Formats: sequence, C-alpha cells, structure tokens
Amino acid sequence: AFVMAVSACASSKTVSGGSPASSGAKAVSKGKIGVILPDTKSSARWANDDAPLLTAAFKQAGVSYDIQNAQGDATQMQTIADQMITSGVTVLVITNLDSGSGKAIETKAAANGVATIDYDRLTLGGSAQYYVSFDNVAVGKLQGQGLVNCLQAQGAKKPVVAELNGSPTDNNATLFAQGYNSVLDPLYANGTLVKGPNQSVPNWDNQQAGTIFEQMLTAQPNIGGVLSANDGLGGAVIAILSKNHRNGKVPVTGQDATVSGLQDILAGDQCMTVYKAVKKEASAAAELAVALDKGQKPAAPNQTYDPVGKRQVPSVLLTPEAITKSNIKEVIGDGYVTRAQLCTGA
Ligand code: BGC
Repeated sequence: AFVMAVSACASSKTVSGGSPASSGAKAVSKGKIGVILPDTKSSARWANDDAPLLTAAFKQAGVSYDIQNAQGDATQMQTIADQMITSGVTVLVITNLDSGSGKAIETKAAANGVATIDYDRLTLGGSAQYYVSFDNVAVGKLQGQGLVNCLQAQGAKKPVVAELNGSPTDNNATLFAQGYNSVLDPLYANGTLVKGPNQSVPNWDNQQAGTIFEQMLTAQPNIGGVLSANDGLGGAVIAILSKNHRNGKVPVTGQDATVSGLQDILAGDQCMTVYKAVKKEASAAAELAVALDKGQKPAAPNQTYDPVGKRQVPSVLLTPEAITKSNIKEVIGDGYVTRAQLCTGA
C-alpha cells in the first residue's frame, strides 16, 4: 500500500508537471483556450459566475486558458480575438455581442486553424464547431408561466401585461420571447390577460430598460404585470415601480438568479427568476474546448438549427429551472449563491 501511495503521488506530479510522454492516461493539451465574454453590465452573471466557473473548469482540466471580457464593445471583442489567435490559442470560446461580429471572429479563427465554440449565444450564420447553452425557449416558457402564476395568486382580473424583451441582437432574446409568448399569446387571445406595451432593450442595457419602462408606465398606468427577460431589466423595472409605490403589487419576472434578483424575490418585489446552472454550462464548454484542443470531435447530445447558416450545430442544451420564494433554497443548495450573499448583498 505504501508503494502504491508513493507511486500515485509520483504519477500525479508527472501529470500536473505536464510531461506528456510519461502520462498515458491523460492526453496532454497542446495549446491554450481563449474565452471572450460579452460585457459586465447586461447581467451580473458574466463577471460573477461565468468567469470564475470557467476558470475553475479549465484549472480542473489542467489546460492553459485566457478569459477576457469585451465590455459590450464588438470592436473590442474582435481585437481580443485577434490577439488570442496571434498568441496561439487552439480554441476560441465566444459569447457574441451580435451575430455579425461573432461570425467575423469565427471566420477569422477558422482561417487560422482555430476551432470555435458558441458559449450561451448562438452565432447565426457562424461556423462554430459547438454551441453550449440552455434550452432558451424553455427559459421563456418558465418566465411566461411564472408571471401567469403570480398574477393568478394575486387574483388579478384581466391584468395588462407589459413585455420588456432582451437585446434584438441576441438570438437568445428571440428564443426567450418565443417561449414566453407561447404561454402569453393564447391568454391575450382569450381575454385572460390584456396585451400591453412590448419593447426590446438594446444590448440588454439596464439603464435604458428603466427609461423604457417609465415611458410605458406613463402611457399606460394600469400595467398589472411585467414580463422582464432577465434580472437586470427586472431590477430597473422594480426601481420605477418603487418610485410609483407599485413595487410588490405588480409581478415582475427575471432570469439568471442574480443576487439582486433573488433579494428582490425575498423582498416580494420580484415574482420569479430562472436559474441556469452556469457551473454545468461552463464545465460543458470547457470539456468540449479541451477535446477540440486535443484534436478530438466528441459527439454532442443535441443539435440546434441555425436558420441563417442553414446548418445543424452540435450542441449541449441544459435545462433551466424556475425559482420563486418557495424554492430559493435550491440556488443556495447548488452553491450558486451563498446565504450570506443574499442577506448582505455582498
Ligand atoms: C443570456 C442571459 C443574460 C443576457 C444578458 C443572454 O444571452 O442567456 O443569461 O441575462 O444574455 O446578458
């Protein structure tokens, strides 16, 4: 047993030392994986969750990585991509700011022999080898049903529903809307709900969301429920409702299970959020990136049709979960947020 323990230590040292010849079990990566996240303002997730969870996944896999953030600037994303390609990344993982700029990055990467993965957002017309995300139509359905549940619980009669959609340049925003409208449209049609104002928020800009919603509320003061596509937009809506002493009376949806979104749920100002286990998303992306780096092409469990590129993209699509006050503990239990964060806002 002693000899075995010693040799286990020795072999694990060899692996972490990166000597390919002596390690038959673990194929050693050739290069470095680059990741470019979109911004830090459209949702707290990119900086607070995706960056650290991707870091942890790459560390665990024992590969070199470089994770950067384009700060909402598509030109900046292209510059970072160029630098990463020059620095010798073998795989580039991007969350595009719009399909056009994402496609340009993927085309250039391919021309340089660099594989690409669409992380969270599909690049329409792009050439990524894989797409890793959640079932985003399902996300929207949970939001639609969540809003309906909250309105019903209030006993609201024919409430006017306002919709605040995500960025028109984000394919996910289209899918979320497809999901929630599949729930809401029949209820508008049969008179259970009244269709109110409906607007997209450019770049998911939280501040603009506040301005847009304030205008909506001024034009239609009887808004009784708000389908907001994520927690950032929802927070902006709640701020305006608070200003009008209507917070808590008008259910607002969200997405991302951010600390402030969850706090708004606990306070009774937000009706629900959608929890997407970013840890699983980050691990799936890291796993595929490591495989591509080794020259492998593992089969993916799902396919996503890109209507612009007219191709099926091998995908990993994870399952989202609705979170309300009654099951908020699940997000804590999963280690996504801590009780202390919820209680202090840290
Ligand atoms: C993501 C959401 C996020 C939004 C704004 C979407 O593509 O799926 O999780 O809230 O972008 O960043």
